[in-house]
Amino acid sequence: MSFSELIGQYEAKKRLGVPLVGQPGHAFLLIGPSGIGKKTLGREFAKGLLCSHPTENGGCGTCPNCIYMREHTHPDYRELLLASGEKNIKVADVRSKILSDVGIMAQIATRKVYLIDADGLAEEGQNALLKTLEEPPAHVVFILTVSDESKLLPTILSRTVSVRLIPNTEEEVVRALMQKDPEILPDDATLFARFSGGVIGYAMNLSQSSWLVEDWEELTNLILRMPEMTRTELLTDTYSFFEAEKEHFVDLLALMNMILDEMAITIADPKSERLHDAGKKDKMISVIRKHKLTLAKIGRSSVVLTEAAKAFQANGDFEIMVCRMLLALKKELSNG
Ligand SMILES: [Zn+2]
Repeated sequence: MSFSELIGQYEAKKRLGVPLVGQPGHAFLLIGPSGIGKKTLGREFAKGLLCSHPTENGGCGTCPNCIYMREHTHPDYRELLLASGEKNIKVADVRSKILSDVGIMAQIATRKVYLIDADGLAEEGQNALLKTLEEPPAHVVFILTVSDESKLLPTILSRTVSVRLIPNTEEEVVRALMQKDPEILPDDATLFARFSGGVIGYAMNLSQSSWLVEDWEELTNLILRMPEMTRTELLTDTYSFFEAEKEHFVDLLALMNMILDEMAITIADPKSERLHDAGKKDKMISVIRKHKLTLAKIGRSSVVLTEAAKAFQANGDFEIMVCRMLLALKKELSNG
């Protein structure tokens, strides 16, 4: 793999490609939300830094350096990541794995590269690293990754070149999902991509579990049936569904918003190809016609969901809040 094979992140790849064929400097900071691909990009950048014949597209893929990197056995490359279940990287590990190693010359490459998960560095760990970041040995390059740069000391920020990773497009996320699992259903891949907000790692996680597809199905049926449902049915069976899925409640609201978006698209442009579930389209169109749903009604339904999200965050009574939301939605989505 090289830069060019990583999906999206054109700006970041362009910025990291330039130092590969020039003087790279000593410290880079890759910034972006969890799951966006900071470590994947960082590893490809490291490969380019160690490669004997790098181009702006990254490592050549065939020299011994690139092969060692591919096999995860390069002696001049180290990663310091947060161990699962740990809150912070231990300062002792910063010392033993990084600080005591930087002075040793590279074995096969012309430099040494360290990838450090800076989200795992508490202030003490950052302070331990700081002196070396300020006066790094000539052959050393640090690649730090962070999702929340406000937790970094200003002195760390000022010593590093920041490169920001941005959310991928829906199409890029779908492509990444298909690449990983060619068997994935296109409709499901689109759903994961749309729900992930452009974060490939999050989309991959979603694709590993079934709740999103199941809840999408359940909630689509709920919204389409809502105008016909009785008050009792809403306050008993439907409420029970929300209670059982309480820990996902924020996700359920986001899903319902996506379904309302699809209804709005169907109202505005019934021929649109942007709908997730073509099988539901006819049903959706008939519900829209029968209950004379308009964009204004869909907009007000969306406001109902926003208010429910606020009430949920404010820790109000769950049952009262959900029942109020369901009745308000029914009112907005019914004819009249
Ligand atoms: Zn190479």
